[in-house]
Amino acid sequence: MTVNLLDFDAAGLSAYFAELGEKPFRARQVLRWMHRSGQSDFDAMTDIARSLREKLKAEAEIVPPAVVSDKLSDDGTRKFLFDVGGGNAVETVFIPEDDRGTLCVSTQAGCALDCAFCSTGKQGFNRNLTAAEIIGQLWQANRALGARPDGERAVSNVVLMGMGEPLANFDNSVTALRLMLDDNAYGLSRRRVTVSTSGLVPVMDRLRDACPVALAVSLHAPDDGLRDELVPINRKYPLRELMAACQRYLEQAPRDFVTFEYVMLDGVNDSDEHARRLLHLTRDVPCKFNLIPFNPFPGSPFRRSPSPRIRRFAEILMNAGIVTTTRKTRGEDIDAACGQLAGQVRDKTRRSGRPVIGIHEVRSQ
Ligand code: SAH
Ligand code: SF4
Repeated sequence: MTVNLLDFDAAGLSAYFAELGEKPFRARQVLRWMHRSGQSDFDAMTDIARSLREKLKAEAEIVPPAVVSDKLSDDGTRKFLFDVGGGNAVETVFIPEDDRGTLCVSTQAGCALDCAFCSTGKQGFNRNLTAAEIIGQLWQANRALGARPDGERAVSNVVLMGMGEPLANFDNSVTALRLMLDDNAYGLSRRRVTVSTSGLVPVMDRLRDACPVALAVSLHAPDDGLRDELVPINRKYPLRELMAACQRYLEQAPRDFVTFEYVMLDGVNDSDEHARRLLHLTRDVPCKFNLIPFNPFPGSPFRRSPSPRIRRFAEILMNAGIVTTTRKTRGEDIDAACGQLAGQVRDKTRRSGRPVIGIHEVRSQ
């Protein structure tokens, strides 16, 4: 069977090269060609012996997911749609800012966790992305975006905040994270790579031990009653356990705070009282808050909180000394805003077996 070399981190590639009878430094060279130079053609790897190139061509390949559409928003946000086979597509969003460029990467086709306000969740779950499909999104984005005028790569930050729950696809997400951090691959600092989780408590501990990067936790409610409704995984891992997991994570984290994401839903979780209860809930967890104005999608029962409400909510948190930002809604004209990512997913979990078409049709180039 042909092996996709994008599925390996440095250790995995060395092990594969050892099987081929090749030295670890050869693996390192190939890793650099693939990820630093964005090369997928073995014949272009000029400092690799021809005999090794022939061996690799016979047994291996370098195949990222194919880009099926690439759209640019008026505000510079760019959205890529990737074909991941079997009628499934996932999305990746690039958000340029003055001092950085952030790539929002997907980890699953669909998501099984079914949060009430999330378009991806509403599509159901199809499958975990492979490590090649996860890192392949960064590989493709780097190729499409090119370098900035100062020669730096366009992507300086990565957030696993696209479609899916990264901690429900732990091994492949960690392989991709290791490549993001590896100096022979993307060389990003741990502080510039963020995993966002809805709160899979035991896996947060595993991430801390395996590959601590910056952590964002999707909170969305100050009490278990409401969070059980909005983020159903809360029924398994309630807030008390989640707060304790955040504290444990911070022992190893590259940043000394957790970012709590909080989607602002009109009349649901956005009152002054909710804000005050959040202060109480998070009193022992060094944190920042990122308020996300709800992004509507067809069929969703929620409305976005009005701006003055969001400002007042932020003020209560800030007056208590918590750094609070409100996420600018970007890429709305191309449906690239948080929670609008849909792609197209064939849901394996629904009995009908019919494909569930997301809010976007897959467009061919
Ligand atoms: N599964 C992970 C990461 C992907 S979701 C998680 O839940 O954290 C990334 C973020 O977008 C989460 O904070 C999620 O709650 C938020 N989100 C989902 N749907 C949204 C919507 N319709 N509007 C605004 N934010 C949304
Ligand atoms: Fe899954 Fe995150 Fe969406 Fe919840 S918010 S359904 S965990 S992708």
